[in-house]
Amino acid sequence: MTKIKVKTPIVEMDGDEMTRVIWARIKEQLILPHLNVDLKYFDLSVTHRDQTDDQVTVDAANACLEYGVGVKCATITPNEDRVTEFSLKKQWASPNGTIRSIMDGTVFRKPITLSNIPPRVRMWKKPIVVARHAFGDIYRDQEMVISGPGKVELVYTPEGGDPQRLLINNFKGSSSTGVAMGMFNTDKSIGSFAKSVFTYALGEKLNIWFNTKDTISKKYHTRFREIFQAEADARKSDMDKAGINYGYYLIDDAVAQVLKCEGGHLWACMNYDGDVMSDMVAEGFGSLGLMTSVLVSPDGKYEYEAAHGTVTRHFRRHQKGEETSTNSVASIFAWTGAIGRRGQLDKTPEVTSFAQRVEVAVIDTIESGTMTGDLTRLTTTPNPTHANTFSFMDAVAAKLN
Ligand code: NAP
Ligand code: MG
Repeated sequence: MTKIKVKTPIVEMDGDEMTRVIWARIKEQLILPHLNVDLKYFDLSVTHRDQTDDQVTVDAANACLEYGVGVKCATITPNEDRVTEFSLKKQWASPNGTIRSIMDGTVFRKPITLSNIPPRVRMWKKPIVVARHAFGDIYRDQEMVISGPGKVELVYTPEGGDPQRLLINNFKGSSSTGVAMGMFNTDKSIGSFAKSVFTYALGEKLNIWFNTKDTISKKYHTRFREIFQAEADARKSDMDKAGINYGYYLIDDAVAQVLKCEGGHLWACMNYDGDVMSDMVAEGFGSLGLMTSVLVSPDGKYEYEAAHGTVTRHFRRHQKGEETSTNSVASIFAWTGAIGRRGQLDKTPEVTSFAQRVEVAVIDTIESGTMTGDLTRLTTTPNPTHANTFSFMDAVAAKLN
């Protein structure tokens, strides 16, 4: 069998634990037998990040910017326990956070839908992609506990100018204690977010929903609305060509609408809304093992991954030689997402269609009744075949071949 040639390299970022085990298998069974591809390999395992003082993460992110498409395995974000477990020099930052800030990107989470895995929300027929603005607001705020009478003010001192003050609250009398907070965002970050959202939606041909609470927050939230509207105006002719539209809603209206809709759109959310709603949508669709994630930079560079972590609990069992039934679908779709995008950017339809064939093999395997334990609990297929981590991948490889 002759292999399909991929024109431009793909950046590959290896990871940790159960997902690292799955990762090697995906490459060996599903990708390398069929593709002739130059993989720029970066080992982002926690121990190698430690050895390189995390330089490998920075290098990998820069490679994604250079080559335009990357695929990443899940990685450990070390906490104190992990520092002890692996004798690390320190609690290195989250690799995803590092890559996100270098690529200045937005994360889009997309569920994989299957005919025999019904969403918990009956109305949903097509994937709902959630885009979260992962910068600023309460995630970069300053907070204060107010322990007695006094004024809390917002002060802005322009360089070389006089301070401007706004009274937040005068704490006094029986209401003299409480809490206060200050937060911010920047036009640059909101603008990058808007650009990434429209770039993604145009690529995938999805209608866009955006929502804030600008009836209440007349300056802060209104700024988001204005920047999104400006982006929508700038992309009007591209959107018309792609047959997609942009809709602005109040967040509470959007939340009600989303439960009544069929799906098939891109839901762009401010930071906190996106944090909360992406978990709601993930759970509404079924399993973390079916949720993919892609980081898109404003100028159209892509990094694909599964939305779940390294599945530590399963890895502990695997280490003891016990059988596991870990779902590899989101990791496989990270690969097909990257390969499909590479094909699209390189204008090599044979590469894009290979990615689609792998996805079809996965979907056919599950829809014909073979699936991992997380899905046997959810499926409408009577007496499904319970596959372990490896027999599932074998079944997909057999279908693909
Ligand atoms: P997790 O790896 O997502 O796993 C949490 C639980 O969700 C699992 O124990 C399992 O439940 C279920 N699950 C997740 N993915 C699954 C799959 N593919 N197949 C079947 N079940 C799946 O989250 P975690 O245990 O909180 O985090 C583990 C490590 O991952 C941490 O070190 C964290 O830092 C890292 N992490 C990395 C990323 C990333 O790189 N993007 C994201 C999140 C977390 P049951 O045990 O009930 O079967
Ligand atoms: Mg959350």
